[in-house]
Amino acid sequence: MQATNVIRLQLKCCYNIRVMNLARQIEQHLPRQLLELVKDISGQAAERGERVYLVGGIVRDLLLGDPSLRSGLRFDLDLVVEGDAVKLAQQVAETSQAKLLAHRRFGTAKLRYEKFTLDMATARRETYAQPGALPSVTPGTLKDDLIRRDFSINAMAISLASNDYGELNDPYQGKTDLKRRLIRILHPGSFSDDATRILRGVRYEQRFGFEFEAQTARLLERDIPMLDTISGDRIRHELELIFEEKHPEFAIKRLAHLGVLPRISPSLKGDGWLAEKFDRARQLEKPSQLPSLYFCLLVYSSDEKEIEQFLARLNISAKLSRAMRDTLRLKTRLPLLDKSALKPSEIYYLLREYEPVAIQANAIASDEKEGAPSLIVHHHLQLFLTKLRFVRTSLDGEELKRLGIFAGPEMGKVLQTLHKAKLDGEVRTRAAEEKLALSLKTPDFRTDPEPPRE
Ligand code: ATP
Ligand code: MG
Repeated sequence: MQATNVIRLQLKCCYNIRVMNLARQIEQHLPRQLLELVKDISGQAAERGERVYLVGGIVRDLLLGDPSLRSGLRFDLDLVVEGDAVKLAQQVAETSQAKLLAHRRFGTAKLRYEKFTLDMATARRETYAQPGALPSVTPGTLKDDLIRRDFSINAMAISLASNDYGELNDPYQGKTDLKRRLIRILHPGSFSDDATRILRGVRYEQRFGFEFEAQTARLLERDIPMLDTISGDRIRHELELIFEEKHPEFAIKRLAHLGVLPRISPSLKGDGWLAEKFDRARQLEKPSQLPSLYFCLLVYSSDEKEIEQFLARLNISAKLSRAMRDTLRLKTRLPLLDKSALKPSEIYYLLREYEPVAIQANAIASDEKEGAPSLIVHHHLQLFLTKLRFVRTSLDGEELKRLGIFAGPEMGKVLQTLHKAKLDGEVRTRAAEEKLALSLKTPDFRTDPEPPRE
């Protein structure tokens, strides 16, 4: 038996400490395949003289009694290893169908399976050379590892080792905070070490309907300026996590109220308008598109300069940047769509150059009550999104060639005319398209040349 286990056993005997055991909850709530996998990993660790624990959100959610509270589409688990997580993960990857991604410098590894992801981390001690910097890490005990975490409710671990399977490790009273419904940091320098915890804290506060513990609340407000020390990528990642929540508008509103949003970008607002539009977005868009749509709605009231500032601050990808710029560009051109007599083909050619998500953002933003001037605009945007953008001609280039139409500008023109006619309902069948194509064909001088003049 390892020395730490002996001490643990002695402590339990001497002080009769009642350790909570969550074996039943693990067995009940983890998908069977995942459960077998983590048990197997723990077995392999034991052979190496190492111990593995479930840690973080899964422990919190098991104690809350509902792991389905977990956000995201995949079932992700965090494991902490008293030992070498990277070596253990490499060994596990060799014997299973997992894709391995290792970060030796941080002692972490990700194992990606078809239905879930395991994040494995070497138990470690962290020090921050300066606020916002990535920490320097050295191997440590489970207790060292738990104190470096964001909040007490995320700083609990469950043993997977066979001798104390299911035992809860809760050195920082996370369970009590769960009962008291409190979000509490573990030391006063927590937010200044890593100000992304401000965004994380608000996300949990709003997801669970908890409150910040009094000192945590004070330090959070004090350390909001420390967000300036955080890279764009890390802030964007936290916003993306917020956008995976069931109701991101709650966290956004709270962040606005606390003065966090303007610290990230001065023009951002989290008012009632946005909450209503986020709600509408969920009714209209499939989940995979929602985060981009939320981003476009978030900057909807910003001007061009403000959007550029936001894109640069958060290091937003080229595709999403295009969608956000398109959102604003289209917003300024909406009056062109405010005419009831527009033909479908005219609507199509006005809108085809914009990213669909930018069109959706404008459709949602212009979705006012019946009788408002923007109702026509809204209708045209929806028509494009639901129908017009999918309209294709029945005939393609190859078939037009067979009808004797040459590839090149002529074919381009014919295809466009056919497409417009189809959009406007002037041709409905393949035969009608052929007829129209032939009528557009210019006489073929090469096959049937005029006789030369005398
Ligand atoms: P959820 O997915 O429900 O938000 P989670 O616990 O799975 O919760 P992750 O982002 O996967 O969240 O992080 C795993 C764990 O890593 C957290 O529970 C927390 O203990 C720790 N952690 C994550 N980010 C930080 C951070 N910035 N500072 C300290 N600890 C962190
Ligand atoms: Mg996780």
